[in-house]
Amino acid sequence: MSATRIDGKAIAADLRAKIAVEAEKLIAETKLVPGIAVVIVGEDPASQVYVASKGKAAKECNFHSVQHTLPTDVAEGDLLALIKELNEDPAIHGILVQLPLPDHIDESKVLNLIRPDKDVDGFHPINVGLLTAGERDKAMVPCTPAGSLILAKRALGNLSGKNAVVIGRSNIVGKPMAALLLAESCTVTIAHSRTKDLEGVVRGADIVVAAVGRPQMVKGDWIKEGACVIDVGINRIPAPERGEGKTRLVGDVDYDSAAERAGFITPVPGGVGPMTIALLMANTLTAARRSIGLDDLDFAALLG
Ligand code: NAP
Repeated sequence: MSATRIDGKAIAADLRAKIAVEAEKLIAETKLVPGIAVVIVGEDPASQVYVASKGKAAKECNFHSVQHTLPTDVAEGDLLALIKELNEDPAIHGILVQLPLPDHIDESKVLNLIRPDKDVDGFHPINVGLLTAGERDKAMVPCTPAGSLILAKRALGNLSGKNAVVIGRSNIVGKPMAALLLAESCTVTIAHSRTKDLEGVVRGADIVVAAVGRPQMVKGDWIKEGACVIDVGINRIPAPERGEGKTRLVGDVDYDSAAERAGFITPVPGGVGPMTIALLMANTLTAARRSIGLDDLDFAALLG
């Protein structure tokens, strides 16, 4: 079998376009402009790139977008004061603090101060609890798992009863991904570094979500024929074939060998990554709509 490539880049572009239309409608009907604030501390080049692409996507979606860039040595108190200010700002519906934060700042103190209804990253314990309790309609759902779920559903349709294996148990990806798949009535296994016979566990899966951070760890012969493989990993590896000192991005899955057995597979880059930013926009629109009592939009359905 040769897998169908799930084009996350194109699906994310389509979703951003749909969000832009919905935001325009909201503005015309209610005068409410969805607003997002992105806070970045320090000058990590990778974080700068992510933040710039979030700002660009927000503009494309017709949102009000502000960026706060703080120096690496900013006092924790000053960052907390900024979060409090944004919590009270009626023009801001979504607050995102770019991670990682410098060592002298207590990350959980910062994330827990963000008002849960403005927590567009979905990391606040209230949102984690709502998702785990099956109350997705009240929660803000973390963007990467939410985007990954849309890709899996577009590939397979109804996921009910499927065996899903999530490799990785981080709070950002693995755990919320498992909660989302469970809510779709999958039978979910969460694998991690202590899992025995990972290959055997993966071989039983109709859906494999790899969120490990180890380049090309999941091999093609682990994959069940016809399975849907969602590769969350983003790893930079040396690419001497491109010239001295050059690198390239790969996922946690060995794409070429997995594509020979899978039914569907996401590439890296161009799979889950662009969906993460699109879902951040979706969460911001949701937060704005909820702030005036409007229902959530079904973004998977909007995509058609
Ligand atoms: P993380 O916090 O480092 O978690 C990695 C998980 O992988 C841990 O649960 C760890 O298990 C597990 N693991 C490590 N080695 C393993 C092994 N040999 N076998 C099985 N499990 C193993 O990473 P993360 O934040 O979830 O990110 C995972 C990957 O996704 C990274 O490549 C990251 O760059 C990428 N990512 C991509 C996006 C996107 O937008 N596409 C967003 C977020 C993250 P233990 O818990 O036992 O240590």
